[in-house]
Amino acid sequence: MSRIAYVNGRYRPLAAAAVNVEDRGYQFSDGVYEVCEVRQGRLIDERRHLERLRRSLSELRIAMPMTEAALSTILHEVVRRNRVRWGIVYLQITRGVARRDHAFPPAGTRPSVVVTARNLDLDQAERLAAEGVAVISVPDNRWERVDIKSVSLLPNVLAKQAARERGAREAWFVDRQGLVTEGSSSNAWIVTRDGKVVTRHADQAILKGITRTVVLDVLKAQGLVLEERPFSLEEAYAAREAFITSASQIVLPVVRIDGRPIGNGAPGLVATALRRDFHRHAESS
Ligand code: PMP
Repeated sequence: MSRIAYVNGRYRPLAAAAVNVEDRGYQFSDGVYEVCEVRQGRLIDERRHLERLRRSLSELRIAMPMTEAALSTILHEVVRRNRVRWGIVYLQITRGVARRDHAFPPAGTRPSVVVTARNLDLDQAERLAAEGVAVISVPDNRWERVDIKSVSLLPNVLAKQAARERGAREAWFVDRQGLVTEGSSSNAWIVTRDGKVVTRHADQAILKGITRTVVLDVLKAQGLVLEERPFSLEEAYAAREAFITSASQIVLPVVRIDGRPIGNGAPGLVATALRRDFHRHAESS
């Protein structure tokens, strides 16, 4: 079965789905995106993802190209046409097509909309969660507005590749003060020796993950103590547990950072329980 993508009003086979070479997403990374988990064919936390999308667009002064209801219909239709049971749906909106000029295009230029979806390997994901993953640290060399979910991801691409080349799953960005901001495509968490769960507060230095938001609810329900504050790499090395969160990975235990075992070097109890309970607190549509 050929995969299907939605591109500016049309559903096309993936191989034939294309955007204009003067699309500002292609020319300038002038656009935003969202990734939603799909589970049993349903979208997880769609409402929150669309809310964040609206905010990202507004911060970049890109017009919302259609109503949220219309966008939602397209997301579900792409999931349906691709027969996604467990996987992801990807949505990208750019400032549209215009003659190449850095400044904004003429008023009335229509934003471009692309939606794709695919199945992920559920068994492999569960295996990863059972074994835990390795993380490396890299300097945070991104711009100052990473709270906007922009498609401009070059530092994230380079960081992820550095992780792959060192046998790790994720790279954690570390700022000039030696504090961990987040992963290249996930939020970063630790559990301290005295059992407090720590993740950086959501300022402009991290993307406020939807998974992160839901995990805060799960923590509360489990009666765990949360501290939203920066933590250093040194504190992470000495932590009892570490884990990452993202829509496609949910909660993934981290068992090594820069080659050093975290805790006893196996997935921690807190991360495992958060992963287990996550979907009881997430919305499904
Ligand atoms: N930070 C970054 C840099 C990301 O790319 C992602 C994943 N899109 C996240 C955090 C996690 O966000 P979410 O839980 O909404 O997937």
